[in-house]
Amino acid sequence: MGVEVVVGSDRAQALAKQLPARSLTLNFFKPERAVRKVAAFARKYPLRAIVGVDDDTTLLAAMGSAALGLPHNSVESVLATRNKHLMRELLAKAGIPSPDFWLFSTDDDPEELAGEVSFPCVVKPLSLSASQGVIRADDGGQFVEAFRRLVALQEDPEIKARLGPTAGKVLVEGFIPGPEFALEGLLVGGELKVLALFDKPDPMEGPFFEETLYITPSRWPAAVQEELAGCTARTARALGLREGPVHAELRINDRGPWILEIAARSIGGLCSRTLRFGTGLSLEELILRHALGLEVASFQRERPAAGVMMLPIPRAGILRAVRGREAASQVKGIEEVVLSIPPGQAVQPLPEGSRYLGFIFARGESPAAVEEALREAYRRLEVVITTD
Ligand code: ADP
Repeated sequence: MGVEVVVGSDRAQALAKQLPARSLTLNFFKPERAVRKVAAFARKYPLRAIVGVDDDTTLLAAMGSAALGLPHNSVESVLATRNKHLMRELLAKAGIPSPDFWLFSTDDDPEELAGEVSFPCVVKPLSLSASQGVIRADDGGQFVEAFRRLVALQEDPEIKARLGPTAGKVLVEGFIPGPEFALEGLLVGGELKVLALFDKPDPMEGPFFEETLYITPSRWPAAVQEELAGCTARTARALGLREGPVHAELRINDRGPWILEIAARSIGGLCSRTLRFGTGLSLEELILRHALGLEVASFQRERPAAGVMMLPIPRAGILRAVRGREAASQVKGIEEVVLSIPPGQAVQPLPEGSRYLGFIFARGESPAAVEEALREAYRRLEVVITTD
């Protein structure tokens, strides 16, 4: 694209000293201090856009843009996406269908709270991601157990730092039944362009909510897809989001579409590899073009169906090997099998963990063919985790 990129990272880049104009080391959990550093940097090396790439950086990107007078979502709107309780309050106020929800403190006694909530419900932290700490409870006993498990997780120092001001809180929401979807969109001057709607064909009933398959285009009727897009657009408007990528998770049931959450960033992990637009633009190029005010010729996703399987961590222990990668790659339609955790590392499943072993990518003539290819490739993998 011929764009000069400055990487703002929470780790110093290897060539930081040699290339001072190309990187910035920032503490993502101290955004005010990080913004002062960005502003000082920009006086020397002017910046035209700041793009946050994950949940930990969306707020910093909004605050940095505000400080430099760059067009971006407002800080308040991004703050609302980073606090699940604030988001629920704003959406309920805007009349967007919302489950019942309750805000509690980690010091509360769950035995007492169990009488206040209704079941089934979902216990969750206010600002983590990848379903970390999200647990379903169907009765008082499960609720007490889930609450204690989430409180224990929130005591971990790294998690505490990530949660920042919401560390002492627990959100409980009524469980929304129904199939789940992910919508990838781009807001341009407040208007939502739907880039892709992914079906999640594996049911997500809990108690933990592991992501597995994402397949696009959706196989649901056009009317359902429009309802989901409409709900996402209303959600963005209610929170005040206007510019840049959004990633929304929704469910649908006989009462219509329900927003689970919306984030002011693009799809996470390596999943964006499933998407190509117009004449081969990647999602990242599209986002950068929009951020820089360059023309985007087409928001149309390419014609073939595409999908990804996120590889869940089946149990805790030391990852020794993931076997069968070659055989999995040979399944028709499989483009790539990427393993993201090197052997020898400790791994932990949900709800305490937050990572995936890797990703399988596929393309094909139809969503059904892509789903079958991903399932077959997954069957060919063998994950070896030891607990010694
Ligand atoms: P995260 O930001 O960590 O992904 P979410 O709030 O999006 O957390 O929840 C993760 C997953 O848990 C969702 O994708 C969904 O499957 C499930 N979930 C969360 N809240 C609810 C709810 N109120 N009803 C039904 N499922 C839920």
